[in-house]
Amino acid sequence: MPNPIQYSVVVPVYNSTDSLIELSDRLETVFKETLKASYEVIFVDDASPNPETWPTLQKLQQLPRNISIVQLTRNFGKPGAVLCGFSQVQGKFVVMMDDDLQHFPEDIPHLAQKKNHDIVIGHFKKKEHGWAKRVTSDMKGWLDSVLLGKPKHVSNGAFVLLKREVVDAVLKLQVAYPYISALLFFVSKDVVNVDVRHGKRTYGKTGYTLGKLVGQFLNFIINNSSLLLRGVAVVGMLFSTMSIVLGIYYFVRSFFQVVNVPGWTSMIVVMLFSTGLILFALGVIGEYLIRIINGIENRPSYIVRHKRTSNYDK
Ligand code: UDP
Ligand code: MG
Repeated sequence: MPNPIQYSVVVPVYNSTDSLIELSDRLETVFKETLKASYEVIFVDDASPNPETWPTLQKLQQLPRNISIVQLTRNFGKPGAVLCGFSQVQGKFVVMMDDDLQHFPEDIPHLAQKKNHDIVIGHFKKKEHGWAKRVTSDMKGWLDSVLLGKPKHVSNGAFVLLKREVVDAVLKLQVAYPYISALLFFVSKDVVNVDVRHGKRTYGKTGYTLGKLVGQFLNFIINNSSLLLRGVAVVGMLFSTMSIVLGIYYFVRSFFQVVNVPGWTSMIVVMLFSTGLILFALGVIGEYLIRIINGIENRPSYIVRHKRTSNYDK
């Protein structure tokens, strides 16, 4: 029997090449020399369009290290890739980190110091992101608390160390539009932060286009709460109340004043406005319906094309 694996590192990969080699080398040093613990790495290629990504992973897999590689059939997005990685882990603890070295492998021992907690989240002291990303992530942080019940005292992040039990519980949750943090906070509130560094992206560029970010945000807000639906209902009620009051006012006024010019403009403005509101509300309801239908269909959040598990025994 080989040693049981202590740590599993799950890395969703999108378009990276050189950073993967450096990441693998630095992980080897960290686990061999600093933590002195057995580990495995699971790289999940989220169907990167870059033709060099998969061959790079194949080469890494040949090294005398415990590296497994998986390729998805198409681009499922980061949550799908992460869940796929989770389904492969063997370790007692699971680290989730990005492929672009913005998360430092050398910080894993710091996360591991608090491994008696269910969820240890790396907190970036100084964010090396553009201002637009910072504003959206601040907004998301606030929403994380309001919508997901994220404990207020911690900040969310993508560099995380988890107990294996948490990962196993997450895998049991069947959701159509997964959002990793939502799943984690659903499973446990035993969450702590550890300060870590956040590197600039020196290799490649972000895999998140504006479209992907908006899509992720919609998943987040629609699938994790009925906030939007309720918001629409409140706005709709406000406007319909206002229209009724205005209608009464004009009706009463017509008894006391002779109206020479029929109020075409105001009519049309009110009509367009209310039609717009109704359509907007219908759109939102439609969006929910689509998601309910997809949920009932029970589609997987990822599909595997190739998989090579390591046969390297420590
Ligand atoms: N990622 C992915 N699928 C995608 C886009 C990104 O698996 O469609 C992964 C990517 O490989 C990386 C992580 O998500 O490990 C974060 O991506 P990125 O560095 O592009 O985002 P940022 O750091 O700008 O938030
Ligand atoms: Mg990044």
